[in-house]
Amino acid sequence: MPNTTILRAEGLSKQFYGFAAVQNVNLQVNEGTIHALVGPNGAGKTTCFNLLSKFITPTSGEVYFQNQPITHLQPADIARLGMVRSFQISATFSQMTLLENVRVGLQRQAGLATQFWRSTRALDRLNDEAMQFLELVGLASQARRAAASLPYGHKRALELATTLAMNPKLMLLDEPTQGLGHEDVQQVTELIRRVARGRTVLMVEHNMSVISSICDRVTVMQRGQVLAEGSYDEVSRNPEVIAAYMGE
Ligand code: ADP
Repeated sequence: MPNTTILRAEGLSKQFYGFAAVQNVNLQVNEGTIHALVGPNGAGKTTCFNLLSKFITPTSGEVYFQNQPITHLQPADIARLGMVRSFQISATFSQMTLLENVRVGLQRQAGLATQFWRSTRALDRLNDEAMQFLELVGLASQARRAAASLPYGHKRALELATTLAMNPKLMLLDEPTQGLGHEDVQQVTELIRRVARGRTVLMVEHNMSVISSICDRVTVMQRGQVLAEGSYDEVSRNPEVIAAYMGE
């Protein structure tokens, strides 16, 4: 079966006050894959990620989601199409319970008005659905706990549950294992592998063992450009990639 492209960037560039942080990047993410964006510090990964998720506007170039140009759309509209970026639990959300956090994801996905929740039946239904996502990430037993009181690794799992509640076809994860200890890294990696089934994931990630264990494709960036693209084995043997990391 031929690969179907879910996300495509063509000639994507971003200049900050004349400095080219991202230059003419072409990128293709295939449906059903876990795709990593990697590169040494300052390579332009974050800028590229922000451009792809429409967090910032490109100086030039176009991004297509399922062959539809999305560069002119607002992030909320893009999320509704099925391309969802995971965000760290903010201060406000950390005061809410896990269940409430996931409910917000469900509400966003459905575009429901706040009044809708006020009907008891609707709220029960939302709670049931939210519980299913918490179960999926192993947090159901802590549903009524405040998000702020969760250990760091569980916060990442909650973020995944909230993202999943938005019914993504493509999940964009920004350094999902950053700051985690070894055991948490393994748990979150396993979780990503599990929730990625039937979905597509694009993630910025530094941890090479995470990338080698779950990523099907890797795009390596250097100085704002794509240096290499391929499987982990291919790019990790590429002399230019090795040189880029040695020079870090
Ligand atoms: P990475 O995520 O790979 O470490 P970034 O995308 O954060 O790289 O940054 C790429 C380059 O663009 C860096 O040199 C950085 O200093 C610069 N840059 C990023 N964001 C801005 C900004 N808002 N204003 C000016 N320069 C920026």
